[in-house]
Amino acid sequence: MEASHYHAEDGVYVCGLCPHGCRIPVGGFGRCGTRRGEERMLVAYTYGRVSSMATDPIEKKPLYHYYPKSKIFSVGGIGCNLSCKNCQNYSVSMSPSGKKRTTYESPEEIVAMCRTERLDSIAFTYNEPTVWFEYIMDAAAYDRDIRYVAVTNGVISEEPLKELCRVTDAMNIDVKGFTDKFYRDVCGGRLADVLRSAEIVHERKVHLELTYLVIPGYNDSEEEIAGFCHWVRDCISADTPVHFTRFHPDYEMMDVPMTPVDTLLLCKEAAEESGIEFAYIGNALTDDGSDTYCPECGGLVIRRTGYAVDLVALDGRRCAYCKHRLNIIR
Ligand code: SF4
Repeated sequence: MEASHYHAEDGVYVCGLCPHGCRIPVGGFGRCGTRRGEERMLVAYTYGRVSSMATDPIEKKPLYHYYPKSKIFSVGGIGCNLSCKNCQNYSVSMSPSGKKRTTYESPEEIVAMCRTERLDSIAFTYNEPTVWFEYIMDAAAYDRDIRYVAVTNGVISEEPLKELCRVTDAMNIDVKGFTDKFYRDVCGGRLADVLRSAEIVHERKVHLELTYLVIPGYNDSEEEIAGFCHWVRDCISADTPVHFTRFHPDYEMMDVPMTPVDTLLLCKEAAEESGIEFAYIGNALTDDGSDTYCPECGGLVIRRTGYAVDLVALDGRRCAYCKHRLNIIR
């Protein structure tokens, strides 16, 4: 499959799918390991190569305000355009091309599998969907009645992102930290690229939720969390759901301790103080850190315990107590 978003220049292919802009010679791969230079074209080398498939609760993505309590057919490939030292999915994301066991499934086949499971939505998740761009676009073109979701790091160039927004109904974007240094040293990317992507997704009216994985000593300072919350409030929207999730030691960060629950509670508190209406705690059991409260009357609208979800007081998209319209799609 020929890749999209590239051009030839000075004997190499220049990939424009993401801001890294890799220069790829014939026989070489881009940084993500998923685009390969061949004699006549740049190839989307992992097109259709599926590493994982499962039916998941939508809350696992995490998406708390998008068809709450529903199930979503979830599909992942291999490769990623970041290289996070803390990657919690490194067996698929860091897999050099061809080494991870995959099966080929055409876009038509994954759509058919989704239908067989009697589901009406597909999430591109587990590894980075950006590097599966062509595959996602083909699946979406094949069946427009399915809702498509991307769980992404937001490192994608503006044009392909806008194309993706045209076929995607919801996205969860990871904001992995709130300093350039963190992105450079830990992830191999740039903060500004991710923020711009989130702003574009919001402008395009794709349902957006944000995840911030809190890593002790790396991205959990008061200033950094406050900076993130102010950006959400001022540049995205105060009613955008924000998930502060718990880090556990993984990959190249085995020496960093798990995030204390108290730190997650402080992040949630800081978000609420800065005006964020829906701040959640993820990957940790707390009394009510995953519950949704109406920002207008304070009533409990959705209770979540792990992936058990109780729609306590939802009237369509409104709070059943005070009828305030919530940023919840259903
Ligand atoms: S998508 Fe891959 S090959 Fe293209 S610029 Fe990004 S990292 Fe490089």
